[in-house]
Amino acid sequence: MTFEHLFDDTQTAFAPKTDLQLSKARLLFQLFGVQPLVDFGAAATSLAMTLGLPISSLYKYTVYNHFCGGETFDECKKTIKLLDSFHVGTMLNYGVELKETDEDFETTIQHTLEAINFATEHHSVKSICVKLTGFGRFGLFEKIQANEVLTKDEESEYKKIKDRLDYICKAAHKNNVVIYIDAEESWIQDPLDDLADEMMGNYNKKLAIVYNTFQLYRNDRLDFLKKSFQKAKNNNYLLGAKIVRGAYMEKERERAAKLDYASPIHHSKVAVNHDYDAAIKFCLENLSDISVCIASQSEESNLFAVKLMNQLNIPFNHTGVIFSQLYGMGDNITFNLAKIGCNACKYLPYGPVKDVIPYLIRRAEENSSISGQMGRELGLIVKEIKRRKKRQLPILTNL
Ligand SMILES: Cc1cc2nc3c(=O)[nH]c(=O)nc-3n(C[C@H](O)[C@H](O)[C@H](O)COP(=O)(O)OP(=O)(O)OC[C@H]3O[C@@H](n4cnc5c(N)ncnc54)[C@H](O)[C@@H]3O)c2cc1C
Repeated sequence: MTFEHLFDDTQTAFAPKTDLQLSKARLLFQLFGVQPLVDFGAAATSLAMTLGLPISSLYKYTVYNHFCGGETFDECKKTIKLLDSFHVGTMLNYGVELKETDEDFETTIQHTLEAINFATEHHSVKSICVKLTGFGRFGLFEKIQANEVLTKDEESEYKKIKDRLDYICKAAHKNNVVIYIDAEESWIQDPLDDLADEMMGNYNKKLAIVYNTFQLYRNDRLDFLKKSFQKAKNNNYLLGAKIVRGAYMEKERERAAKLDYASPIHHSKVAVNHDYDAAIKFCLENLSDISVCIASQSEESNLFAVKLMNQLNIPFNHTGVIFSQLYGMGDNITFNLAKIGCNACKYLPYGPVKDVIPYLIRRAEENSSISGQMGRELGLIVKEIKRRKKRQLPILTNL
């Protein structure tokens, strides 16, 4: 079996989209291609948010609907059902970011618990993504990583974070719902890794319920993945590994330059790709002790994984191998993977429009700066629109 053209099938990729939705998506990606417009949009949005201007409706009917499931679970149901009808699962993410007060953290915990309950009742929602900076203060994680002495209050603050996470993981474990712990900035990542390891030790005895995330754009993470695997083996638990390239490249490089330390990010995309594919290989070769989520929009890496699974005689529906792309991107990958029987799913953010705007700005910026991906998304949409138009033309032969 050859897989070379697996992701070129636009009919399968866009089957869930109506002609109108497809035209709207084309316009959106065309606009993302105009860098000054994206820059202006991001700046204008920040200003409008500061001034409290009502920009939510503008976002809701444009970018939000393309990249998010809805403001509530009820609003998400239609999307989840549609994805499920194409055998695509859902990875729910409460898209609200960077909250700093105890009250905010408790609200996030409440939302996460509700998401676990919702997943329990909806078979295609198999997992929830969490950001630990939604459970506790960024500054506290930073202080722990810098090895600064914590005050008594800070120690109890940290214990509270751990208790919150444990509470969530326990509920997820009880209901057989997977929890993916996101990776964040490198200068707070160590305590996040420690918390993830502790939870995996508690809840991954029989199945991988908790997954840590490994950012392969960091030059130390392939090694760290292998060390995490060894630690899991030594302590008799399964390693859950979500592997990503990483979302904070520019921020990481800027901070390293400003504070004059060596950037933890690889110098080139080639080196990142090498480590990413090596991580896929390492996980697939150790599936008896690792469950892996390949979270990437890269056709090359997804193809690499499919070919390797085929070569190693790993069934495409192996429960230890999950593929995931962001909702609104990489549809040619997700739907074609699902078609050949892989466990494919979409990362689906939800939440109030105004709170999800930072996530949406990141998507717009990602799609304008990584021109290769944007070009590819737009190219595929245009190809499908042309294919549908051709199908509707009358046959002019034999006149
Ligand atoms: C389901 C899911 C979950 C995710 N969870 C997380 C998470 O927890 N934490 C997180 O940080 N990100 C997360 N991401 C985001 C992810 O990191 C980005 O979507 C990803 O970096 C885009 O890369 P890609 O693999 O899709 O493919 P590509 O488009 O092939 O790669 C682009 C990426 O490569 C890297 N890169 C590009 N140019 C260079 C260069 N010159 N030098 C070094 N590196 C370069 C950057 O990471 C860039 O984002 C998640 C993504 C998905 C789909």
